[in-house]
Amino acid sequence: MSKVVLITGGSRGIGRAAALLCAARGWSVGVNYATNRNAADETVARVEAAGGRAIAIQGDVCEEADVIALFDATTRAFGQIDGFVNNAGIVAPGSALADMDVARMKRVFDTNVLGAYLGAREAARRMSTKRGGRGGSIVNVSSAAARLGSPNEYVDYAGSKGAVDTLTIGLAKELGPEGVRVNAVRPGLIDTEIHASGGKPDRAAQLGALAPLGRPGTADEVAQSIVWLLSDASAYVSGALLDVAGGR
Ligand code: NAP
Repeated sequence: MSKVVLITGGSRGIGRAAALLCAARGWSVGVNYATNRNAADETVARVEAAGGRAIAIQGDVCEEADVIALFDATTRAFGQIDGFVNNAGIVAPGSALADMDVARMKRVFDTNVLGAYLGAREAARRMSTKRGGRGGSIVNVSSAAARLGSPNEYVDYAGSKGAVDTLTIGLAKELGPEGVRVNAVRPGLIDTEIHASGGKPDRAAQLGALAPLGRPGTADEVAQSIVWLLSDASAYVSGALLDVAGGR
């Protein structure tokens, strides 16, 4: 029986790369998206073309009912969940904190903090061996921003990822005795569309060149770490914050 994973924001970028790699390793994949149905369908089509199993599921991670429905849909399609990748996240255009409006800060914190906590809560309810689950692995997608602070760009985003790190540390302690490992990856400058959504399409290329490894990372390079943390190869790793940031 194949293992089952749900990936929030699996339609594009790092989430898509994780979906493709999970499927290639034999996992059945729930591919969540917010609005971009075509991108989610393409992720599913690529999984299926390679002989894997996936479904696309619309849902906003900020909405409790949507988050519950994502898990329900994945379980209905493939059975009980063994892995959860808490990946959906957004940035907003670069700005000093003094110039940020409250609507933008709420959007960032709702998606990156409340969304991540709701997803992790639902995963805990379904995966904990004390609650009828069969254990497994949760991987939170944080950011190097959590330790860099992102001054004059997005300290709101950086703080939201600090919350994801703290969630990882606490939840790993809660769920370790219940058969669930919890870890985070902290990507650095990765070449995805998130930078264009923050108004700087060339950001990864420009700043990535300054990283000790001299280039931005790829979504697939982050996915490799995510899939390792999902897999039994990392069986004694929990509560870890794994930097995938080219030495930055
Ligand atoms: P991306 O290419 O912009 O993709 C974002 C994904 O999240 C899309 O699948 C999008 O769905 C989904 N999403 C956004 N808001 C959502 C919501 N409210 N509910 C459900 N899904 C939602 O971003 P990415 O670069 O792959 O980033 C993925 C994660 O890595 C994020 O948490 C980000 O903070 C983190 N990260 C990225 C970098 C980087 O340099 N790229 C660095 C550090 C950390 P739609 O397709 O429907 O829009």
